[in-house]
Amino acid sequence: MSLQTSLIEKIPTEVQAVATTLQKANFEAYLVGGCIRDLLINRKPKDWDITTNATPEEIIGLFSETFYENAYGTVGVKTEGDKVDETVKVIEVTPYRLETKYTDVRRPDSITFSKDIKDDLKRRDFTINAIALDPSNGHIIDLYKGQTDLKDGILRTVGNPHDRFQEDALRILRAIRLSCELNFTIESDTEKALVDNSDLLIHISKERVRDEFSKMIMSDYPQRGMELAQKYNVLRFISPEFEKSIGIEQGGVHKYNVWEHLIRSLQLSADKKWPLDVRLASLLHDIGKPDTRRPGESKWTFYGHEVVGARIAKRILMDLKFPQKLIEKVVKLVRWHMFFSDTETITHSAVRRMVANVGKENVWDLMNVRVADRIGTGRPKENPYRLRKYQAMIEEVMRDPISVGMLKIDGKRIMEVTRETPGRKIGYTLHALLEEVLEDPKLNTAEYLEMRAGELIKLPEEELKALGEKGKQIQEQVEEEKVGEIRKKYHVE
Ligand code: ATP
Ligand code: MG
Repeated sequence: MSLQTSLIEKIPTEVQAVATTLQKANFEAYLVGGCIRDLLINRKPKDWDITTNATPEEIIGLFSETFYENAYGTVGVKTEGDKVDETVKVIEVTPYRLETKYTDVRRPDSITFSKDIKDDLKRRDFTINAIALDPSNGHIIDLYKGQTDLKDGILRTVGNPHDRFQEDALRILRAIRLSCELNFTIESDTEKALVDNSDLLIHISKERVRDEFSKMIMSDYPQRGMELAQKYNVLRFISPEFEKSIGIEQGGVHKYNVWEHLIRSLQLSADKKWPLDVRLASLLHDIGKPDTRRPGESKWTFYGHEVVGARIAKRILMDLKFPQKLIEKVVKLVRWHMFFSDTETITHSAVRRMVANVGKENVWDLMNVRVADRIGTGRPKENPYRLRKYQAMIEEVMRDPISVGMLKIDGKRIMEVTRETPGRKIGYTLHALLEEVLEDPKLNTAEYLEMRAGELIKLPEEELKALGEKGKQIQEQVEEEKVGEIRKKYHVE
């Protein structure tokens, strides 16, 4: 099969249909940018972009449902039918563009549309992002040898790198991000220009910095991304706090200084495919250490670094305008990450307090931050027993206890259906019912329990009391069994 056919086969029908509609109306239509790059290296595209010589008005005229509310001429085309694949629900169609002058290094002063695809490819950032494909016949337009760079794993600007970074300094961060998403090397002239122009990032909005930073964190090689950001002197635009951690030695069990430890913990989180919040918490968990380091008797101490760190983490994430909910969660994970490092014996009440502090829904993520933290110190295999013990204890304190509260009936309802007055008999009845339900969980229906309560309540009080006591014993026994099961699951005592 030729390259052309194999590429065409990988294009979703919804995307094909949008291009066909444009071409049938005598316009040109090419797939371009990230999607072609990804297709050529067998990655799954995140979105599908089409570029055309039609104007926004002409595009809108061809489709039944479109969205058009941006300065770049991009029209979102809603595709037909029920789709599972999120990336084809809306296809972005953008007229060929020509970027003129940038006076504020941020966005072009004006956007001019063009009738020539060459202009559109020329304004794109990197050679690997400047390849266009005609989806009707698989014809490829590759004016900047993007395919060669793709093969060689090289990131190179289209045209003079100095000019391109001066036009839009965000491209500096895009280079770092793409380099760690694709595991590509930045070509030397491009690299030099990127270092020379790093100061220009001051003009880029926090939101755009955040978006590239997030993508870098979510890539497979975020540690490399952070190292490149340091090497190219752009860490300060993500946050100056990171620079403070460079070279801060820790001594003791730590092989690495704070900075190295943080980026290694981040990498571990990425290796485990953990989500953004856990990755950010791994990256930030010791960010309070530079401010709290004091000489101790035999080694450095960092008392309170988790409290200071939580505050710093909050500031960093707020500066980058991350969503409030994400910030709250990351801050909690940073604030409580020391829980598992406590060398004293951890008791059930301590675990319960921790669960209350960090929130039930965040407990396992906190545990993951600890795993990343531990491996990030360079002592991978230490103390797996203790880790399992914590897991067992967490599960024990978080499970719903066996109680009469589980029943599909309560004391009030028993009194309604039996016309019994409040008294000890109601409690005995509930425990007697619990015993039956523990024996056979299928009996836990309102219908059965109401009927059965009617029978039990007629028993002499002594007899009912004996049934109730037995119910309590069984309840304790089942509780113990459940805890035993959890401990067995984690192989701990
Ligand atoms: P992703 O896989 O994250 O979508 P992408 O390369 O497709 O990566 P987008 O932001 O979707 O990134 O941009 C689509 C295309 O637009 C790019 O491939 C590139 O050709 C062009 N582009 C995006 N941002 C810039 C920029 N700042 N300067 C020049 N061209 C850009
Ligand atoms: Mg894209």
